[in-house]
Amino acid sequence: MSKNSKPTNSKSLVSKAYENQIIVKNADGEYAPVGYTKREIKPADKAELVSVARAMNDDFAPRVRKLFNAEAEAAEKAIRTGLYVGYRCPEFTWDCIRVNKHHKCFCGHLLDDHEKFDGKKFMLPCHQCKCKGYAFIPSRPEDVGEFWFARRRDFDVTKYRVKCRCKHPHDSHDAIMMNCKEKACGCRMFNSNFLCAACDQHWEKHETFFETQKERKENKLPYGESYRPFNEMQELKQVLYDDEDNLMPIDAPDRSIGKKLNFKNSDTSLKGEQE
Ligand SMILES: [Zn+2]
Ligand SMILES: [Zn+2]
Ligand SMILES: [Zn+2]
Ligand SMILES: [Zn+2]
Ligand SMILES: [Zn+2]
Repeated sequence: MSKNSKPTNSKSLVSKAYENQIIVKNADGEYAPVGYTKREIKPADKAELVSVARAMNDDFAPRVRKLFNAEAEAAEKAIRTGLYVGYRCPEFTWDCIRVNKHHKCFCGHLLDDHEKFDGKKFMLPCHQCKCKGYAFIPSRPEDVGEFWFARRRDFDVTKYRVKCRCKHPHDSHDAIMMNCKEKACGCRMFNSNFLCAACDQHWEKHETFFETQKERKENKLPYGESYRPFNEMQELKQVLYDDEDNLMPIDAPDRSIGKKLNFKNSDTSLKGEQE
């Protein structure tokens, strides 16, 4: 579809969608995330934006699930156990990432490789290396806003590492002193060359917080159901969860697609007009 073929009103909606980072595909086939920024979206606009995003992406639902599945799993576990692991800037009242046991630490090992959070200890040393405390580090290009990466045919997420300004990956740096261990690199402290997709801030501004439900409640941070991704955006929540609040499999069919918009028909009529 060429850019010019979109009707004006949907064009402005799409740019609005971009502003609010709802997932839409642009001319280069890139995707922008949805719900990654916490900028206010008027409730009335939300449903419209979701519809537009869906109209533009036939694989909208699986993409949203793929993006948010690990976080949704983390949320379910936190709600169940009352123990929350969140990655955010200290002044925030929401988490940039709900940390899952499979999420990576700066040391290169998973949260699961570190001592278990029991609600009392907040420095969780690594069982695999000398790292003294788990610190979340993004391990997917989507988490640092590099959406085009994952679409490359030869892309291997297991080999992907976010990098320092010295151009070396995080796990080339000492787990404690954070200086770079690569030969002839004078880097004395890891400095991220990427920004968080949720808040546009550098990794160094963030911390990984280990909190109990009681602490989150006291600090006015989301807990319980409100910790679920898209809890305030029903239309999007429906993409991740079924009516009983069970997580849906990534490849489950989209429950509401086509209900409000008949994409196939409008596509054909658009094509006719274009030619
Ligand atoms: Zn480690
Ligand atoms: Zn570690
Ligand atoms: Zn470095
Ligand atoms: Zn280096
Ligand atoms: Zn952030």
